[in-house]
Formats: sequence, structure tokens, C-alpha cells
Amino acid sequence: MAVERTLSIIKPDATRRNLTGKINAKFEDGGLRIVAQKRVQLSKAQAEQFYGVHRERPFFGDLVSFMISGPVVLQVLEGENAIARNREIMGATNPANAAEGTIRKEFAESIEANSVHGSDAPETAAQEIAFFFAGIELVG
Ligand code: ADP
Ligand code: MG
Repeated sequence: MAVERTLSIIKPDATRRNLTGKINAKFEDGGLRIVAQKRVQLSKAQAEQFYGVHRERPFFGDLVSFMISGPVVLQVLEGENAIARNREIMGATNPANAAEGTIRKEFAESIEANSVHGSDAPETAAQEIAFFFAGIELVG
């Protein structure tokens, strides 16, 4: 295993319910370190570009509207096998299928409003981190 970095987003359903700290406790208790963090309001153009891979999916418009419905917390998580580890801690996309103890099982409202984003592979992690953060903002 290698030390990796992955992009995490705490989504608007979770910031609205004041769950930032509870969610970050799951990451930290799970062995990941938060090495960059900022709370922002995404623009429509930014959300559309970030989720561009899903542009053709039927839920794309709703997803973009949801992601700009309130502030998000953008984070870079670091640790051994961080990309897969983060996805384990998050749980399945649909909270109905998420394992006990995962963020989505405990906190997600729906398959769309599922509280967190996490990169899915080394290439997407690198792209997604560079989309939101300058190198000087990552402090390991
Ligand atoms: P993940 O976030 O687990 O990597 P995807 O990349 O497949 O999942 O989807 C990106 C996001 O789009 C999901 O986290 C969720 O917010 C939303 N989404 C995915 N599938 C659906 C769906 N069937 N209906 C509504 N929203 C969805
Ligand atoms: Mg995904």
C-alpha cells in the first residue's frame, strides 16, 4: 500500500444539517488526515464541470442543482490507500445499500443527497484535487 491523496466533498445536505464535524470524525477515526480544507459556495458552471462525466445521466440537472443549493466543504484526505479507504468510510452511493457505520448509512438523506463525494481512482483524484486546490494549499 502507498500513501495517497483523494478529494472529498461534504455536500450541501450535510453542511445544512451541521454535520461537518461528525463526518470528519469518521475520516479521522478511519485513519485519514485532512491535509486541505475550504468551505465554498459552488457556482453552476463549477458544479457542471466537476460532474461533467455524468452530463448524459438523467439525474445530472438535479445533481448540479443540489450541489449548488448550499455551501460545500472541499477537502483533501491523505493516508494509506486513501482513495479506496475513503470510499469504504463513505459507504455505497445509495444509502439503502450502505454498510453499517458508514457516513452514508448514518447521514445520507437519499441516493442524491448522500452527504459526501470521494474520488474513485488515482487519475480522478489527481484531477479533482487540482480542480479545487493549488499545491500550496495542501499541507500534509
Ligand atoms: P459516487 O458519489 O458514489 O461516486 P456516482 O459517481 O455514481 O456515485 O454519482 C455521483 C453522484 O450523483 C452521487 O454521489 C449522487 O449524489 C448522484 N447520483 C448518483 N446516482 C444517482 C441517481 N440514480 N439518482 C440521483 N442522483 C444520483
Ligand atoms: Mg463518483
